[in-house]
Amino acid sequence: MIEFSEEVLTHFNCDACKKWWSVGDWTKKEKMFCPHCGIVHYDFKEANPLQPAPADLKKDSIHLKLPRWLIAWLDGQPESRAVLIEDALNKVHVIDPPSDT
Ligand SMILES: [Zn+2]
Repeated sequence: MIEFSEEVLTHFNCDACKKWWSVGDWTKKEKMFCPHCGIVHYDFKEANPLQPAPADLKKDSIHLKLPRWLIAWLDGQPESRAVLIEDALNKVHVIDPPSDT
């Protein structure tokens, strides 16, 4: 028998820079910083649930090998492995994720 866990991904669209980002298991905090332009958001409006997230933001599962010490570190963080890796790649390589416009 294998174990599994589930994660709810919430996609945000900044109304200032119009770029998207995603957060795993968002706890509806009081405020949220846009990782692209840094603006602080306090108000949230749920998107139309019938409108799917942009295709570029859909996630695909991949398999990769990482050192055990790094996996242990990733698993000790509150964020998911995927969120930590995506955030680190965006910061180090200054990747410009697609926007909806
Ligand atoms: Zn922004």
